[in-house]
Amino acid sequence: MLMEKEKKQIVRFGRKLLEARLTTGTGGNLSLINRDKGLIAISPSGLNYLETAPDDVVIMDLAGNVVDSPRKPSSEAGFHLDLYKNRPDISAVVHTHSVYATTVACLNLELPAVHYLVGFAGRKVPLAPYATFGSQELADNIIATIGDYNAVLLANHGLVTVGTTLQGAFDAAEELELIAQIYIQAKSVGEPVIVPDEEMDRVIDKFSTYGQAGGKSKE
Ligand code: 13P
Ligand code: ZN
Repeated sequence: MLMEKEKKQIVRFGRKLLEARLTTGTGGNLSLINRDKGLIAISPSGLNYLETAPDDVVIMDLAGNVVDSPRKPSSEAGFHLDLYKNRPDISAVVHTHSVYATTVACLNLELPAVHYLVGFAGRKVPLAPYATFGSQELADNIIATIGDYNAVLLANHGLVTVGTTLQGAFDAAEELELIAQIYIQAKSVGEPVIVPDEEMDRVIDKFSTYGQAGGKSKE
């Protein structure tokens, strides 16, 4: 099976998105790139994660051609491909409609450093302007906004995270959902205190050696 390892990871992490309540139904999507082969494995469009088998995962080349699959690729394949072309440092993309991150996005707010764990994304999570799902305009807005950040909120839509591994992009989506919940809660009681940029730079630096293997922020 072409890209068998990558297909299995897409299936496994799709289920984890549901288990972690980062998405519901067929919302969101995820992909991985094998840069040696120049191919990406991406979740199929509109297929429940629990019903998705490795054979359903779509393999595409960087020009957007489907190389191997009976299924239609995610409607957001365009922004996944554009992210891989614009960010040579990443190998995985996760998109969710998680409740609190999407709440922040529906207020058309960025997610500031209300807690140091925003360092999973950078000094903050920026906000890409609204555009219709699946459109080239949405892909363009994401590319114009994400810069070197590892996450971007999509106005009135959801969250996108990137990483060097699918585990890393998943972890960022999970942690940023927690921080978005904390932000909404803190804002509902008072005015949250934001961690200054210099401190966030220290945190991001420390993340590069955090944990057993060393390196959290770009994992
Ligand atoms: P797909 O099922 O086509 O991946 O679409 C889900 C989604 O989140 C669109 O933004
Ligand atoms: Zn979506």
